[in-house]
Amino acid sequence: MKGPGLHSSIKELSGVGEKRAAAFGRLGIFTLADLLSHYPRTYEDRTVCKKIIELSHEETVSICGVVSSSVKTNLIRKNLRISTVKVSDGTGFLELVWFNNRFIESRLKKGETYVFYGKVQTTPKKQMHSPIVELPTQQKQIGRIMPIYPLTEGLTETFVTDCMQKALTACRGQIKETLPAKLRTAFQLCEINYAIENIHFPTDAEAYRLARRRLAFEELFLFQTALFSLKKRQNDCKAPQMQAEIEPFLTSLPFEPTGAQRRVMGEIAKDIASSNVMNRLVCGDVGSGKTVVAAAAVYAAARSGFQAAFMAPTEILAVQHYNNLKKLFAPHNITVELLVGSLSAKQKREILGRLKDGTTHIAVGTHALLSEDVGFKKLGLVVTDEQHRFGVEQRKLLTEKGENPHVLVMSATPIPRTLALIIYGDLDISMIDELPPGRQKIDTFAVDESYRKRIYDFLKKEMAQGRQAYIVCPLVEDSEVTELESVTAYIEKLTKNGFAPASVGMVHGKMKGAEKDAVMTRFKKGELSVLVATTVIEVGVDVPNATIMLIENAERFGLSQLHQLRGRVGRGSHKSYCILLAQSSGETAMARLSVMKRESDGFKIAEEDLKQRGPGEFFGTRQHGLPAFRIANLFSDMELLAQTTTAARDFLAGKVLCSTDEKQQISKKIDALFNNRVTIS
Ligand code: ADP
Ligand code: MG
Repeated sequence: MKGPGLHSSIKELSGVGEKRAAAFGRLGIFTLADLLSHYPRTYEDRTVCKKIIELSHEETVSICGVVSSSVKTNLIRKNLRISTVKVSDGTGFLELVWFNNRFIESRLKKGETYVFYGKVQTTPKKQMHSPIVELPTQQKQIGRIMPIYPLTEGLTETFVTDCMQKALTACRGQIKETLPAKLRTAFQLCEINYAIENIHFPTDAEAYRLARRRLAFEELFLFQTALFSLKKRQNDCKAPQMQAEIEPFLTSLPFEPTGAQRRVMGEIAKDIASSNVMNRLVCGDVGSGKTVVAAAAVYAAARSGFQAAFMAPTEILAVQHYNNLKKLFAPHNITVELLVGSLSAKQKREILGRLKDGTTHIAVGTHALLSEDVGFKKLGLVVTDEQHRFGVEQRKLLTEKGENPHVLVMSATPIPRTLALIIYGDLDISMIDELPPGRQKIDTFAVDESYRKRIYDFLKKEMAQGRQAYIVCPLVEDSEVTELESVTAYIEKLTKNGFAPASVGMVHGKMKGAEKDAVMTRFKKGELSVLVATTVIEVGVDVPNATIMLIENAERFGLSQLHQLRGRVGRGSHKSYCILLAQSSGETAMARLSVMKRESDGFKIAEEDLKQRGPGEFFGTRQHGLPAFRIANLFSDMELLAQTTTAARDFLAGKVLCSTDEKQQISKKIDALFNNRVTIS
């Protein structure tokens, strides 16, 4: 007779009726296969058995001993029964204590030997509270590494563990291998049945390590294989070929490009000259000079007879890029036009006309570029700045306005390369890992409230010398308080502290593009000395005369975000400062902020940030499409990630010898993971 197998319903396990099946269903578990991929969230090592004499306070261990007294039960009050018993193991005595346990009296026999597992107290006397009890010959829950599972109402740890054991026995040896044999040999990965068995009930620490590594490898490998094949398919589209010489553009620049800039420009030039579509991410620290790199690509597009679209997340930035590009392209007869929401209907109509008939080469703009009435004659290149603000869908909307235009995405969030590979798996990645020469270090301080007066005095002193300051205003967490109210209240505080009201301006997220622009322009021109802002100044704004960045409630920001904010100063020739004012002077807050004092490299800060907050927080809710892994951890599995990247590349390139069956097995897994949205070839 055939017993239950992998595809059997969970109800075929003894003890699982409708009610418990429904509880399992809430965890997404319907079959035994589902159950087996319900991995423990942690483990309890119950293999350590100690002598009573060795026990120390608060440790959780097992001991083996003889019951040397009968169980005594006292009714302390109506709802509290305390049962105690003495055990000894030849090295000493230990008192065991249970609360409201009616079964223990009949369970323990004086003179018998048992194993006990529980937490030890040594004061006022040596005790173990509510230990688990088993016979030495029938150990199920003691003497091994026990899995601890994520639960839901209606399921207990013991019950799930029990089901898991039954499922493992029923399915032993039946799980089909998913990774090609050659790949397992090359990366020293254990067999699937061994891995599943040992992820649930590891025989020892090494078995667990092997099992976990293999399962995490598979997860990352399948994910990356899917992403890379997606990219391959995109790149296979027939794209516009741009073979323009960019030297004339480079020689017209007021500075010499850095080595990193040249290298990345070279990578882009190669991409756009080929007939495959470019999908490239340029990742670089604030101030690393991403704009000219993008401009060089735009130049090449225009010289090759194509139009380009350059999209920025805010109007302030779009305007800044527009002004920059206009200046850069003036000597080259390349026409640039600005398309933002605040244009008049007439202006807009005229610009749209010039884009349609091809008179205008470059359109710089905000989301306005995505609007349906925007059309191009021959769109060959799409550039988006500050990638994390745009989703994949928005990028797609823009590219659909041309015929397979090349895509260049710029991100100022420096992320470790391995992580970039997985987050932006559908993009090729270029790193600008060098700053233009002569950049000075921004002196950074992390202080608490007691420094406020000194800070304000310092600001006034700098202002008296003609410098300007940004202040990132604390946002009141109370949702009743609007951004406007927070900023206004803060400006009042500044005024009370002796700042001239006329010299202080404000920008916040709820302001209209044109209003914001007006204030930014006044700040840029030097008509305002202090700009109080919410984090809208986060991205790309360039004011060389601003030398102070004061960040209130700095402890609320992630390190990478602080680094971005700090990047707004130190853009001119004057010495610049960043002051992180923390509301709490707690040690953890200060220790976290002190990273900012010693580090100026955005990539290193990002790494630290990731370590502290984990990828989920790091990317925030803005980042779409970050996969939820069952077992792999994007941060702590960095090394594994590097290996799976190689493995996925090799596999897709046909470098891993595998049978048709093995290939199909991987396709099937990927289909299941991505709901048939990705096919591998
Ligand atoms: P980001 O990478 O933050 O977007 P930008 O492109 O805005 O940086 O460049 C920051 C500043 O550095 C700009 O004023 C730009 O003109 C200048 N810059 C860029 N490349 C160089 C270089 N190679 N040498 C000197 N200055 C440069
Ligand atoms: Mg920029």
